[in-house]
Amino acid sequence: MAIEVTLLGTGSPIPDPNRAGPATLVRTGGQTLLVDCGRGVLQRAAALGVGANALDALLLTHLHSDHITDLGDVIITRWVTTFDARPAPLPIIGPPGTADVVRATLQAFGFDIGYRIAHHDDLNEPPPLEVQEFTDGPVWERGAVRITAAPTDHRPVEPTLGFRVECEGTAVVLAGDTVPCASLDRLSSGADALVHTVIRDDLVQRMPLQRFKDICDYHSSVQQAAATATRAGVGTLILTHYVPAITPGEEDQWRQLAAEEFDGRVELGDDLHRVRIG
Ligand SMILES: [Zn+2]
Ligand SMILES: [Zn+2]
Repeated sequence: MAIEVTLLGTGSPIPDPNRAGPATLVRTGGQTLLVDCGRGVLQRAAALGVGANALDALLLTHLHSDHITDLGDVIITRWVTTFDARPAPLPIIGPPGTADVVRATLQAFGFDIGYRIAHHDDLNEPPPLEVQEFTDGPVWERGAVRITAAPTDHRPVEPTLGFRVECEGTAVVLAGDTVPCASLDRLSSGADALVHTVIRDDLVQRMPLQRFKDICDYHSSVQQAAATATRAGVGTLILTHYVPAITPGEEDQWRQLAAEEFDGRVELGDDLHRVRIG
């Protein structure tokens, strides 16, 4: 079964007029899975005709702000656009700490939730959610889709997760933000594709601010992500979360850096870039 990967947001914490925050949509086996929910995620999903009410699950790789900026939007918009009498809860799967973040988000929107329940006869309960925290192992088995999580290394952000989504023999791994590590190697081994966030350390190291240079020590460079793809034996490497943002015409430079360590297919591009695997 094919797995379709759409880069909803390829940006980073720095607001960019053309790139939404980190978020990736994975569609397979009749299911729609959202991995991270950065700035503008629902606008990008709308461009695909995917509403918040169409999500089967939200997976969070970690709790850095750029990856969860629009969590409130996903929760509230799904709630107000689901018209079933008994709406199914949205599964939110993430590392320990996810339940606290979701609880605080519901609290932040507590007034809104109260207004809407008071106003609409058919909204009587707050947004139905089902939060599950994991650090390792199987996290999802529904229909033909199985998802496994494994710890990644984005310290001092801890714990962080990578996800392996499998459907009838096809496997795609979403690494999130991480430096190369043995558990990501194991998770990715033999997969068909690896979706990896990357930074250009050659460019970031030249920036005159230490706060920018700091980000190099807990992200993979393009070459490091490519080397992970090679060790895993994947056929396709999908790069996202570009730091700094790829400027028009610069794509080949990024591809060449990946090609130093990986001789498979490299996919990168703008928001809504779509890749079909299997
Ligand atoms: Zn991060
Ligand atoms: Zn990030």
